[in-house]
Amino acid sequence: MTLTDPAQTLAALIRCPSVTPEDGGALATLGRMLGELGFCNDFVTFSEPGTADVDNLYARLGANGPHLMFAGHTDVVPVGDAKAWSRDPFAADIADGFMYGRGAVDMKGGIACFVSALARLIARRGAPGGSVSLLITGDEEGPSINGTEKLLAYAAGKGERWDAAVVGEPTNPDAMGDMIKIGRRGSLSGTLTVEGVQGHAAYPHLADNPLRGLVTLMDGLLDPPLDAGNARFPPTNLEFTSIDTGNLATNVIPARTTARFNIRFNDIWTAQSLGDELRARLERAARQTRLRPGREPVRYEVAFDPRSSPSFLTRDEALIEALSAAVREATGRTPALSTTGGTSDARFIKDYCPVVEFGLVGQTMHMVDERVALTDLESLTGIYELFLERWFDQRSSAAGAG
Ligand SMILES: [Zn+2]
Repeated sequence: MTLTDPAQTLAALIRCPSVTPEDGGALATLGRMLGELGFCNDFVTFSEPGTADVDNLYARLGANGPHLMFAGHTDVVPVGDAKAWSRDPFAADIADGFMYGRGAVDMKGGIACFVSALARLIARRGAPGGSVSLLITGDEEGPSINGTEKLLAYAAGKGERWDAAVVGEPTNPDAMGDMIKIGRRGSLSGTLTVEGVQGHAAYPHLADNPLRGLVTLMDGLLDPPLDAGNARFPPTNLEFTSIDTGNLATNVIPARTTARFNIRFNDIWTAQSLGDELRARLERAARQTRLRPGREPVRYEVAFDPRSSPSFLTRDEALIEALSAAVREATGRTPALSTTGGTSDARFIKDYCPVVEFGLVGQTMHMVDERVALTDLESLTGIYELFLERWFDQRSSAAGAG
């Protein structure tokens, strides 16, 4: 295999059927490639009662700083309806300029491009002046319990320290160069329960319809908007995801109703300050009587899911600029710096070092006929190579100047 060719490194990874939590030989295959480049491989398996054991790989090249981490996952989501695929999802077939296979973009493709970028850099000017590590889990598409979070703690426990990290998840919506992710909104979920008095729909004065109270409280939570966003984040958004009353009778006012909601919040808030704001809004709204003239305040309870995730923003401008410049040079396009989308393993890495995310075009991820354009593989390999060069040069000149 020629490691400088991302189509070859990717094909080798796609041919390992690593449907989460199975490894399918993917980490050993990656480890062999990295071994050829001079990396030391540390394979670790993590366990937890109630979840499958998961294999992970921490590989490092070099012994000194500066230290750059590349993070990703070799597990893939199931193929779904195998008959709907036009190609074998684990054969890495090439047709019409695309390589087909589960994981082609999410995210064996990102890993393959990074390996090939390193191989090219090493062939051209030797190993980087510092260290490069790959932190690769087999548990990103699954419950994410025996993966990145534990692998980071394991490596840090052995004394590993990093100056910056790149996550190779697909970040471009339509074309290479669209978007770098430099942070994420936080997520907070809650349940709102309103108590009323059950009764006959024809005698509402004898009952207290909790749905009137709920509408009042929902209005109080939604209006006015929580904020207007800021330079790096869109506005915080609250979405009600379900209203459950479970009442099938048309002539009965129900006793109780429940609504669930999820909030994606920017760095103006923490889960704590946001919860406080929502509680204050509910207190005010509960006293509103427009929909419930002459009534006592709405009786309600609100509960927040303790598994919230915080928002974060990477403030390492040199890291962001090194990657942006590499994207501009390779594609001629200026990438948007975005904090949109769902959560990723960057939420764990940000506790150790500044982290940015950049990978392939995400259009076919998790779909039937997942595939990557060979030109995109070439483009991402070029971007990673330029980025590696810039980041290490910038760090060494900063160290020299200091
Ligand atoms: Zn992924």
